[in-house]
Amino acid sequence: MVLVPESLKYTKELAKLFAGSDNILLISHINPDGDAIGAQLALFYYLLSTGKTADMIAPNNLQEFLKWMDGADKINVFIRQRERCKELIERADLIVMLDFNQSNRLGEAEQLVLASKAKRVVIDHHLNPDNYSDLLISDPSACSTSEIIYRIVTELNGSPFIYRPYAEALYVGIITDTGNFDHGSYSGDTFRIVADLLETGIDKGKIQNLVYNNFSSDRMRLMGYALNQKMVIIPEFQTAYISLSKNDLKTYHYVKGDTEGFVNMPLSINGIVFSVFFVEKDGFVKLSFRSKGTFPVNEFASRFFYGGGHLNASGGEYPDTLENTVSYFLKILKENFGNLNNIN
Ligand code: 5GP
Ligand code: MN
Repeated sequence: MVLVPESLKYTKELAKLFAGSDNILLISHINPDGDAIGAQLALFYYLLSTGKTADMIAPNNLQEFLKWMDGADKINVFIRQRERCKELIERADLIVMLDFNQSNRLGEAEQLVLASKAKRVVIDHHLNPDNYSDLLISDPSACSTSEIIYRIVTELNGSPFIYRPYAEALYVGIITDTGNFDHGSYSGDTFRIVADLLETGIDKGKIQNLVYNNFSSDRMRLMGYALNQKMVIIPEFQTAYISLSKNDLKTYHYVKGDTEGFVNMPLSINGIVFSVFFVEKDGFVKLSFRSKGTFPVNEFASRFFYGGGHLNASGGEYPDTLENTVSYFLKILKENFGNLNNIN
């Protein structure tokens, strides 16, 4: 018996929705990462190839290292183009939400999307999705939403869809969500998909350079400062954290995306299983959580920091100063590390 992957169970239903819709809108999540944008662009190009028209919205700006992608300039950024985005949401008859499992990840677009008359579809790989769609295609066994899009599009197309910007977008989604095949639930199937993508002739060296080797010298120095001056290790809780203030970012001429990956670095320390990155925003603190092994950062994020994500990679936020957020975190850590570390 051939098992149908979770993501292919609803392809027929999705095909009907595509066929019956004239104004399809694809929306990624706030602070869109390589997977959200990769999945969005890939589905966009596939829909165009079938003669459909589609529009794209991201709740806020793309990170610098994603802006080179073909079609990235066609993504409407909600916080910069509110009126245009409002129009697109209102006239949509199908809204496809990519790479998130809670509607608040739509940011300022949330209320408009939820109030829209359009049919709503979610395509995602996070655990425990909320119920905010008419059709939910959720497959947490996939390493990325991009992997799911590859499967669905291949099924809909009857064979792999061959088009360079499509393959590049999916490749970016897969390498960024797995940290170049370092973490996340990648599988043999992921490699088979990557093999197909590479065989279409995309230049993996070029993509690697554009995504990972294209930062400013300031970013490198910010990383050095973060590791040397700002990383705190708490051996009794196998935890390390880094916190950066707005002032720190200003000193190093921060641009969006510069702190990407910082949270992963302390996990390379022997004995550290939990890593946290704090960054000060206007009126709140954004947190990123990573773990190795069974420490459930998604639970930590959802219980204490209004967030969520995957077992080993999650995020959240806290509406207080950087200093108070770090103190609150330390208190929560002390009270909960033992329990959470042992539940699995
Ligand atoms: P990052 O730390 O790279 O921002 O996010 C890691 C993972 O956590 C991603 O899968 C992302 O979707 C999820 N995540 C990040 N921030 C939030 C948040 O504020 N709320 C929720 N629910 N998930 C988040
Ligand atoms: Mn993802």
